[in-house]
Amino acid sequence: MAILGSGPAGFYTAYKVMQGIHEAKVDMYEHQPVPFGLVRYGVAPDHPEVKNCQDKFTEVASSPDFTFIGNIKVGQDVSLKSLAIHYDAVVFAYGASMDRKLGIPGEDQLKGIYSARDFVGWYNGLPAFSNLAPQLDLSDTAVVIGQGNVALDVARILLKDVDSLRTTDMTDQALATLAKSKVKRVRVVGRRGPMQVSFTIKEVRELMKLPSVAFEPIDQNLIPPDIPSLPRTAKRLTKLLMEGSMCDMAHAEKSWALDFLLSPIQFLSADGTILSQIEFARTKLVGSDPFESTASVEISADHHSIPTSLAFRSIGYQSEALPGMSGLGIHFDTKRGIITNDYYGRLLSPTHEVHVGRPLPGMYCAGWVKRGPAGVIANTMEDSFATAEAIIADWNDKAPFLGGGNGWETLEGEIAVKGARTVSWEDWLRIDAAEKARGKAVGKERVKFTHPHEMLNILD
Ligand SMILES: Cc1cc2nc3c(=O)[nH]c(=O)nc-3n(C[C@H](O)[C@H](O)[C@H](O)COP(=O)(O)OP(=O)(O)OC[C@H]3O[C@@H](n4cnc5c(N)ncnc54)[C@H](O)[C@@H]3O)c2cc1C
Repeated sequence: MAILGSGPAGFYTAYKVMQGIHEAKVDMYEHQPVPFGLVRYGVAPDHPEVKNCQDKFTEVASSPDFTFIGNIKVGQDVSLKSLAIHYDAVVFAYGASMDRKLGIPGEDQLKGIYSARDFVGWYNGLPAFSNLAPQLDLSDTAVVIGQGNVALDVARILLKDVDSLRTTDMTDQALATLAKSKVKRVRVVGRRGPMQVSFTIKEVRELMKLPSVAFEPIDQNLIPPDIPSLPRTAKRLTKLLMEGSMCDMAHAEKSWALDFLLSPIQFLSADGTILSQIEFARTKLVGSDPFESTASVEISADHHSIPTSLAFRSIGYQSEALPGMSGLGIHFDTKRGIITNDYYGRLLSPTHEVHVGRPLPGMYCAGWVKRGPAGVIANTMEDSFATAEAIIADWNDKAPFLGGGNGWETLEGEIAVKGARTVSWEDWLRIDAAEKARGKAVGKERVKFTHPHEMLNILD
């Protein structure tokens, strides 16, 4: 079986399939020279406990039936067609490597507007964003557009005392930039109300507990009148927001706010180059119950502007199709940003409606590219286990699979001829040890290499 991507979806699928089919052999292809996907490059550096799943993944990788092939971008360094020829099964677990855009004037032209995904990648040492250099010293107010957990990660990193981040694996470059940051206030803005946010209580509580950072009281009109009758999660969140709204603003050095019912219309600039304000349309919750989590909004004619030179777009990640998919009959649903599948992870033929289409033999998907870019690692694990169960059931039922073959044993030669440099699991362990040694020297968990050539140099 070939697995594309070494994030939680790839590893949890491998784990379960190797448990369920004793003759299973897994080759895992990863674009980066290093494994673990968003666990390394997304999860915030001040949440090291979340990264403990890496221990399980390392255990999976230690099996003689597992091969890691890092530094290989499927669709570029190796074609999907080759994988389909040389394996019984291919599992697409390549996550969401793009982000959604607002599509409003000024978004692509003005300086000072960043994608939360790029910013998160930058402070986590993702090679593609090592040169981002966000200008955090131009404005005392930052605006984060979007109200999910990634938006709150961005807000927390901007507000947190930089000294408390120095022992984490955040890059030195990010620490130096944050140390010079002038940001004192962060406004986290959403189109809907507090009952429709997608962040979790744990993340809000963490922000509320930051020393010397106050939470600006939220508009009480947005709080549902009958709190006891709310569903459990909504009730807990409402209580937390109400308690937080009583915080003492007078002695805080910094603050954050949740601004609701604002839909961005345009980014404006006073000098034509740098962002100077964001214009929003006020929205109104509509429907029979505006406090329902699914309530939608309509845009009003009333506008509101927030002056700032620093904005982060945090409205979600997005998956994209890989080159060669259509040639194999794979359907990528561009609207939903997922590979069309039967919910259990079997890829469905594009000629049929979803849910009634025929499964494409031997092709599966898991994780964010299967169900969309939402959910924590625990959700991704459950979802990957469901895919693994489908693979095991199909194998036991002797359902049709792909042509079979010797996988990496054959492909290694093909890829070497093309001059691609691969990174094995043993290579990763050496990179890992080198990063940890660099960290130990300065009292950190690790100091990441932020360029692939640095990682490869270590191996040489
Ligand atoms: C900023 C951020 C913070 C988060 N924080 C938390 C948290 O604190 N706690 C929590 O539980 N969850 C958190 N999550 C959610 C968690 O990261 C996801 O649930 C999980 O990573 C999704 O797993 P995945 O394997 O589908 O995707 P990913 O983790 O993205 O893994 C996909 C892998 O595929 C690789 N890949 C992509 N294209 C190719 C290709 N063409 N060829 C080969 N390889 C390829 C990528 O390099 C990547 O390694 C966070 C997510 C984000 C974005």
